[in-house]
Amino acid sequence: MSLINLSAYELNDAIRKKEVSVLDIAEAYLQRIEKVEDKINAFITFDRDLFLSRAKEIDGYIKEGNEVFDFTGIPIAIKDNICTKDIRTTCASKILANYISVYDATVIKKLNRQHFLMVGKANMDEFAMGSSNENSAFGPVRNPWNLDCVPGGSSGGPAASVAAMEAVCSLGSDTGGSIRQPASLCGIVGIKPTYGMVSRYGLVAFASSLDQIGPLSKNVRDCAALLEIISGYDECDSTSIKADIPKYTSFLNSDIKGMKIGVPKELMVREIDSEVRDLIYKVLRMLEKSGALIEEVSLPNLEYALSVYYIIAPSEASSNLSRFDGVRYGYRNMESATLREMYKKTRAEGFGAEVKRRIMIGTYCLSSGYYDAYYEKAQKVRTLIINDFKKAFSNYDVLISPTSPTTAFKIGDKADDPLMMYLSDICTIPVNLAGIPAISLPAGISKNNLPVGIQVIGDILREDNILKIAGAIERDVKWKISPKI
Ligand code: GLN
Repeated sequence: MSLINLSAYELNDAIRKKEVSVLDIAEAYLQRIEKVEDKINAFITFDRDLFLSRAKEIDGYIKEGNEVFDFTGIPIAIKDNICTKDIRTTCASKILANYISVYDATVIKKLNRQHFLMVGKANMDEFAMGSSNENSAFGPVRNPWNLDCVPGGSSGGPAASVAAMEAVCSLGSDTGGSIRQPASLCGIVGIKPTYGMVSRYGLVAFASSLDQIGPLSKNVRDCAALLEIISGYDECDSTSIKADIPKYTSFLNSDIKGMKIGVPKELMVREIDSEVRDLIYKVLRMLEKSGALIEEVSLPNLEYALSVYYIIAPSEASSNLSRFDGVRYGYRNMESATLREMYKKTRAEGFGAEVKRRIMIGTYCLSSGYYDAYYEKAQKVRTLIINDFKKAFSNYDVLISPTSPTTAFKIGDKADDPLMMYLSDICTIPVNLAGIPAISLPAGISKNNLPVGIQVIGDILREDNILKIAGAIERDVKWKISPKI
């Protein structure tokens, strides 16, 4: 079996037993990247020499008899909104095209302590705004299952790189679904952890009350193991929570007999493709056979989640993105006569259309006279949504829904229709608004050979429950990654 087919834990085992060197692994991945990357475009920055020299360095570290950790020498792709010292962090935007951070994000520091092997900086929708990875100043990413289709977004690069076997796992960010939806469309696993469980220090902010970093991988175990490494309190992030980090991998083989699963009827609405819905019900029946109790449940305020999100997220974005003014970071228009003109031209030239749209919506919602009608009202409805989840979790261990209403759609199909694009996230957005954890994993394959993802949602800090159910689903579905590329 080729090295690129192995999971992180299999590679780790082989490294520990000295059956392979990290350089062997890097060379296998390099060969793969050189073969498929032209078609996929999963990376914004990939430095071949750095990749190989880092692999040799890690081999040296192992040879000296140092500890081999779970992710020592494991090739991991990093979404390009996570700061890496000395390697540019573009957010897939022209405005940050040459931006080099002076520090590593906390998640990178944690992975560096493990001596991981960074593959490169993965492509994404500009500033993580989008559901198709078409909003990148560095070109769209293609879905490894069908090159005419989108990989989902905004973590399209992190998802496609794993599905195309250009990386073993990756880190993405999820504000409204950006880890789970691309994981679903690319046939892999992705976790959006409880808000505050993973430090956001060094993640370029989109909507700070929603953003969370999380792992993507080919199987649930790698995802759980990677989550364990990146989790934990960080004094550099004021929203970080002081909670013990459970041994996430220990939950995967649990007996799920007697666990209670709710199926929110508001997430099984008419926008969901019938094929997607059928596969979700098929998985639910398997879980029932394993002894889980399944009931339909109503969370009435989920109906408003999309509207609430598209007020809160753009509002926070308009504030967060005000720092990109041509003075403090990145691109600057050099032909302006006045400071005001420089601001205007820098932002007009530096930001893409979707980012500008969000900044305008957000600025409008926050402006005096509209703040109460939009922003404040949205915050109130957000509380109602949180309460709906609280109530549901007093009765159920987890909630289950599709991750995305459809399988991967064609590049260009929704690019001119923002509202259609926004609908891609109807099942994932409520989770971010409530700050709770959720996982997406493969539920099966559609008739036209595209992956369908299932979402398992847990209460705050109940990653254990979602991993128990995800473990059971993975055993039942017996998914094999087999994209054509
Ligand atoms: N697709 C959603 C948006 O465009 C979510 C993005 C995300 O989670 N970063 O805002």
